[in-house]
Amino acid sequence: VFVCFEGGEGSGKSTQSKRLTTWLASSSYDVVPTFEPGDTEVGREVRRIVLSPETGELDDRTEALLYAADKAEHVATLVRPALERGAVVITDRYVDSTLAYQGAGRALDVAEVEAVARWATGGLRPHLTVVLDLAPEAGLGRFAGRDRIEGESLEFHQRVRAAFVAMAAADPDHYLVLDARADVDAIEAAVRRAVEPLLHQ
Ligand code: C5P
Repeated sequence: VFVCFEGGEGSGKSTQSKRLTTWLASSSYDVVPTFEPGDTEVGREVRRIVLSPETGELDDRTEALLYAADKAEHVATLVRPALERGAVVITDRYVDSTLAYQGAGRALDVAEVEAVARWATGGLRPHLTVVLDLAPEAGLGRFAGRDRIEGESLEFHQRVRAAFVAMAAADPDHYLVLDARADVDAIEAAVRRAVEPLLHQ
């Protein structure tokens, strides 16, 4: 089972993916928590390049290809092998982040970015993507100045948010959109309710 958390900065993805991991592990599931970018050796290098404020300006296509390289390595060496042995893989960000940030956020053609991302991942899709929806004004304040992307304009982050919501609306069977301002325990419970049926398929 492959579950993904998506959302903007400060939306609580990592908190919720940790909580879901703890719950599944306590029920004796083989669970593999992971994230993008950066959860492989190559990925750590990519993360340093794409997120360090010292990198400065990066060409949009260069950035998109670096994220695609992180994804290819992540899926080939970590996600797919774990799924093949029957583990539950929980990733904090995946293809939708690329479509939202490198596609909708930058001036790149979303269909082209999607083709690259699908190629990089061999078309692997999550069974469920949880979108933690939050107005960028609310999320950004919490982490101001932490990395390159947060220096982007409010409009950039608004395009990112709208992209996540639109992807979810277009494929409701595979998405759960939750208001990230809700109580953390209530969000955790809603995530469990959505994941539970997937465990018995
Ligand atoms: O989720 P996390 O905070 O670790 O993400 C790190 C940064 O990478 C965030 O600022 C996010 O906006 C950015 N990012 C991106 N494109 C992606 C994935 C992450 O710009 N495809």
